[in-house]
Amino acid sequence: MAERTPPPTYDEAMKFAKPGSAPHPSQAQPQVQVVLEQTFSPFPQRMICPSCHAEVETRVKYRPNTNTHLIALLLCFLFWPCALYPYCIDTCQDAMHYCSSCGAYLGTYTN
Ligand SMILES: [Zn+2]
Repeated sequence: MAERTPPPTYDEAMKFAKPGSAPHPSQAQPQVQVVLEQTFSPFPQRMICPSCHAEVETRVKYRPNTNTHLIALLLCFLFWPCALYPYCIDTCQDAMHYCSSCGAYLGTYTN
């Protein structure tokens, strides 16, 4: 049985590292392009469409999300006649915004 060798010290381990692979704290980080985050409301809103560059009022489609299903499930146990209410209430769902001019998808409001 061979005796186990102790793990190398930090300096020993760094000697085996490829030259240039050592961390350089002063090295510039990769450039990250800053994109202005467009925030969306649950209702149609005016914005510049990035696709057709027209100022449009967005067209909103509502889509049930996980919370919608959870609330529906909860209502199902508490008071089942109301179980489908969350699917009828727009603010309980995700609002997907589309350009009313070119139809491009612009973003989603998630609550
Ligand atoms: Zn557009």
